[in-house]
Amino acid sequence: TDTVDFDRIRADFPVLREEVRGNPLVYLDNAASSQMPSVVADRMDQYHRREHANVHRGIHHLSQKATDAYEATRTKAQRLINAEHEHEVIYTTGTTDGINLVAHSFCEEFLSDGDEIILSEIEHHANIVPWQIAAEKHGAAIRVIPVDDSGELIWQQYLELLSERTAIVAIGHVSNALGTVHPVKQIVEEAHKHDIPVLVDGAQAVPHGSVDVQELDVDFYAFSSHKMCGPTGFGILYGKEKYLDAMPPYRSGGDMIDKVSFDGTTYNKLPYKFEAGTPPIVAGIGLGAAIDYLTGIGMEHIARREQELLEYATSRLLSIEGLRIIGTSEHKASVISFVFDDIHATDIGTILDQQGIAVRTGHHCAQPAMRRFDIPGTARASLSFYNNEEDIDRLTEGVKRAKDFF
Ligand code: PMP
Repeated sequence: TDTVDFDRIRADFPVLREEVRGNPLVYLDNAASSQMPSVVADRMDQYHRREHANVHRGIHHLSQKATDAYEATRTKAQRLINAEHEHEVIYTTGTTDGINLVAHSFCEEFLSDGDEIILSEIEHHANIVPWQIAAEKHGAAIRVIPVDDSGELIWQQYLELLSERTAIVAIGHVSNALGTVHPVKQIVEEAHKHDIPVLVDGAQAVPHGSVDVQELDVDFYAFSSHKMCGPTGFGILYGKEKYLDAMPPYRSGGDMIDKVSFDGTTYNKLPYKFEAGTPPIVAGIGLGAAIDYLTGIGMEHIARREQELLEYATSRLLSIEGLRIIGTSEHKASVISFVFDDIHATDIGTILDQQGIAVRTGHHCAQPAMRRFDIPGTARASLSFYNNEEDIDRLTEGVKRAKDFF
């Protein structure tokens, strides 16, 4: 905040000047999908109007231009997360797709009967269901690290779950439901003592601060473009070369092959082995523009501003009688899930919407997390660096009004 003018940054997002139901929009659903700055939309528009062609195929000018622009995103993503090699950056259609790739392909090679997969109790369904399917297929079992009342992992239980049966640990970096930031570096350190690889679901972490996959020493790391000012339909899976090399292809077809004959087919080298068919080219180019935009502001500035907003929002909301925040760890990202004992979250969300305030309500694709806290769902305000104190004041007033209404 010292060197970045976050007020000016709001002007980069045309949607923030929209009115909703007669009120200026207050957008607090950033954990579901962030908004897009004009530079990203313009870059994609330019591609659509003037640069569209297929990638990796043509020798003609336009195809080469599209390929260069599309591949430039790989270098940008590599730098963003500090991957050692560019070919360790696999293009996907999102976090869900990245986790499915690993759950399918890693498990095909490395999971056997009697093995175990360790997850946490507050994972997004995208980091639960693919593992359940893989476990069922290969005769493995899912083991779950519980969380305490603040939403933090119970560390001792994690240590006790690790064993020679563990094939992989898959854990969120930041919980989308509660905001808890898990101690990924320590989680990886403990797993690696037993030579167990760790996949991290980084969907809620990459947009909100600096992530260094080498420093964390994670083996896989997945995230989504649409939560970091980019378009939908694109994402990144980072994987260590040693695992990606050993894993069989996930989807197959054009581009992922080396030689094809009816006697047998050989596969392309990394990263293309995992990238079959014509990809969402414009979305990949859009993510590149989004990474430039975010790093132009500086991930450390973004993280600091969001912590400031989180503190402000937490204290404002807690001033409302009867409001209870679910997820009270000191290690939190800018997500605030809250409930009232006697008002349904959906009703809060509806009243807020009538005032032009967008929050998410429900189980946030984390039903086990809701079960842990014995609630059907929460209202969730998730903040981004382009929100401001006025947004939070509007939210606070809005929640008070909802409370008075019921
Ligand atoms: N994991 C977490 C923690 C998420 O918040 C989300 C998105 N809500 C996902 C995974 C899934 O991401 P996507 O829908 O972009 O594949």
